[in-house]
Amino acid sequence: MNLDGMRTHGTDDIVDVVVVGTGAGGAPLTAELARRGLTVVALEAGRNFALDDLTPDETEAVEINWMSERLSGGDDPTAFGPNNSGRGVGGSTLHWGAFTPRPDARDLRLRTETGEGRDWPLDPAELLSYVARVEGDIGVSGPTPYPWDPDRSYAYGAAARNAPANLVARGCEALGIRYADAPAAVLTRARLQDHHGERRACINCGACHQGCRVDAKATTANTYLPAAVAAGAEIRTGAMVHDIELDARGHVAAVVYRQDGVDVRQRCRSLVLAAGGVETPRLLLHTGVANGSGQVGRNFLAHGATQVWGRFDEPVRGHRGYPSSLITEDMMRPADADFAGGYLVQSLGVMPLTFATTLARGGGLWGRELMARLDQAQSMAGIGINGDCLPSDDNRLELSDETDEFGIPRARVTFTAGPNEKALDRHATAFLLRVMEAAGARETFVLARSAHTIGTARMSTDPADGVVDGDGRSHEVPNLWICDNSVFPSALAANPALTIMALSLRTADRFLASA
Ligand SMILES: Cc1cc2nc3c(=O)[nH]c(=O)nc-3n(C[C@H](O)[C@H](O)[C@H](O)COP(=O)(O)OP(=O)(O)OC[C@H]3O[C@@H](n4cnc5c(N)ncnc54)[C@H](O)[C@@H]3O)c2cc1C
Ligand code: SF4
Repeated sequence: MNLDGMRTHGTDDIVDVVVVGTGAGGAPLTAELARRGLTVVALEAGRNFALDDLTPDETEAVEINWMSERLSGGDDPTAFGPNNSGRGVGGSTLHWGAFTPRPDARDLRLRTETGEGRDWPLDPAELLSYVARVEGDIGVSGPTPYPWDPDRSYAYGAAARNAPANLVARGCEALGIRYADAPAAVLTRARLQDHHGERRACINCGACHQGCRVDAKATTANTYLPAAVAAGAEIRTGAMVHDIELDARGHVAAVVYRQDGVDVRQRCRSLVLAAGGVETPRLLLHTGVANGSGQVGRNFLAHGATQVWGRFDEPVRGHRGYPSSLITEDMMRPADADFAGGYLVQSLGVMPLTFATTLARGGGLWGRELMARLDQAQSMAGIGINGDCLPSDDNRLELSDETDEFGIPRARVTFTAGPNEKALDRHATAFLLRVMEAAGARETFVLARSAHTIGTARMSTDPADGVVDGDGRSHEVPNLWICDNSVFPSALAANPALTIMALSLRTADRFLASA
């Protein structure tokens, strides 16, 4: 993004707010606080990318991912690297799929509804009003009316269906399952984005996860961050925060980051952490800040993301087109469920290296078997889920004995799917197989997967039971706030980024109201 002419602040200045991270959580709040007249410095570990820096080549596109090693354990270890989080101005929105289902109000009240999981300590209607605001800010396409929420409308017509979407539609049709074009933060006609310029319409190239060179896909780098800079915020790149300094009262006084090998101290009146569901708890555990409850790093959540692939007689070429262009929400509360919560279903297209990695990791394929499958890739279509995940004390992020290039202990994440996740996955796998068979697949196979890093600094009403309150403010350190993936009390079935951005705007309002 264009950072020319950006206002800058001295490190001796006491700025109103330092924000760590410029992704889905950090950027909306940065823009909103700057717009309301606060001095804001956003510190970003990664670099700034121009559209021309992005490439569909999967081997080179990893530059936009967080590739520094994380240790992963448990019975269902989470895959990191490109499957996980981003690094750069825009954070994970540089590589996200821009699939934007809204959070379901029932998921936010799961404990009340089912006795399982947790309720979120906020009003679902209020959160959903912020979701609608985000959709307007970033530009979301989708069907109007939306079958599962007839009052909802989208400003842009849906993205074109790719071949896997057409096949999944055929399967759903045969089984009498409702389906629709998916909501996606992808423009289907050009838009003049305030403070940024023209963003073009999607050309259906399929390279969303490698970064959109057309600017059709919304990232925080083409939406909230240009607005933040126009309002006077400063974004410092290549700035890896590794320390938080508290004053005698136990309030944050400054953060320390390393930039070009040099440690720099930035004083601030308040600190907002938005470094994502792994880096935010890692920083808190490393500095020992805000963890009197012992809850930092606990309740790590990962969405169930099982995929079923089918081989068809006709050529599919699923790497082309917007990858997730079909959705069904019919499984949000299946009548025959033996589990709490539900799952969203989406059609899948995929790039070759990502497919190969998932075949190896989720299907256990290797050598000749893997190569044989890859030879068939052009005639395969996929369907997958995003399934709710309940919090568990044993699934957690801790610091390991190994250190990274900054001398910070690496994160060790332990994740094992519980009985509810397993029951949901059994139901989903059977459902996905039925759809692919009804679509006419000659052969089907299942790839086990999980996705997203959530819940390691959760919101709670009781300070003993979480890290931040329902506003996103630390229970312990009054001028410390968190607004990213880590504050989610439960995973929800919806993919997380829209909810994170909505929470970020809400946290900004709560922050301003508290001043
Ligand atoms: C392949 C893939 C596809 C996805 N597709 C979708 C999708 O279609 N829909 C959806 O809703 N979600 C999707 N997601 C998930 C979504 O992108 C993330 O959940 C979301 O962006 C996370 O937001 P965040 O603010 O918590 O973290 P991030 O967006 O990851 O931002 C964190 C930022 O903080 C920076 N940072 C971290 N530590 C430090 C530090 N110590 N100092 C300074 N900076 C630091 C990082 O560099 C990064 O830029 C996808 C994720 C992946 C991996
Ligand atoms: S499919 Fe559309 S949104 Fe995705 S990268 Fe290509 S042009 Fe961008």
